Amino acid sequence: MDKKVLMKVESLSKNYQMGEVTVKALRGVNFEIYEGEFVVILGPSGSGKSTLLNIVGGMDNPTEGKVFIQGEEVTNYNEKELTLYRRNKVGFVFQFYNLMANLTARENVELATELCKAPLDIDEVIENVGLSDRSGHFPSQMSGGEQQRVAIARAVAKNPLLLLCDEPTGALDFKTGISILSLLNKINKEYGKTVVIITHNSPIAEMADRVIKMRSGKIIENKINQNPLEPERIEW
Ligand code: ADP
Ligand code: MG
Repeated sequence: MDKKVLMKVESLSKNYQMGEVTVKALRGVNFEIYEGEFVVILGPSGSGKSTLLNIVGGMDNPTEGKVFIQGEEVTNYNEKELTLYRRNKVGFVFQFYNLMANLTARENVELATELCKAPLDIDEVIENVGLSDRSGHFPSQMSGGEQQRVAIARAVAKNPLLLLCDEPTGALDFKTGISILSLLNKINKEYGKTVVIITHNSPIAEMADRVIKMRSGKIIENKINQNPLEPERIEW
């Protein structure tokens, strides 16, 4: 395989100072993500997954280390470059959807794409996440699974290089969770988007092209999965 490196993370550390106590959330993390990969970052609660995702997504600064996207150093960006990075290069999906309550599904997607450089067609994306008949609904009128579909549409419509998902099925029942994983799989395969999912739920790793395992702020394993499964075929 002759794939290009999309993201490179070098010696990343993050300390949180809590009064007298220093919490070492990341302790020298190194990895690469290749274009088009479906990556699962797996680790127990408190292992540093969200901290890592927030830093690579340009939402937080590391204490030490570097993040590169397509060879460009993100950790060297000024505020304006960071804004453009967050707007055009990465899309976030969170456990609790984080939709704007006063906007409809379509308006949520529209707002996110407003200033984007090369957004996708909003109605097409909404259709592709299976929400055509919900596009005029407000978040409070939708189920958790539907709200997560809106959140995914919102992230995908920006047409980012990288989709970063923090426990995307964490708030959903089992069956709905599988349908969301299956949607993320489709977005990876059909849109060719690079997808990173972080989770503490180990079976989800079975669908990944690459599995990165974390413990206590470190990577303890980084492995290519030769035979990724569709979410429907995972044995839970
Ligand atoms: P995960 O997402 O794997 O559960 P986190 O990245 O949220 O892990 O947290 C890693 C460690 O950093 C934990 O010990 C957590 O308590 C701590 N931590 C996370 N965010 C903060 C913060 N804003 N301030 C202080 N400590 C934090
Ligand atoms: Mg977390």
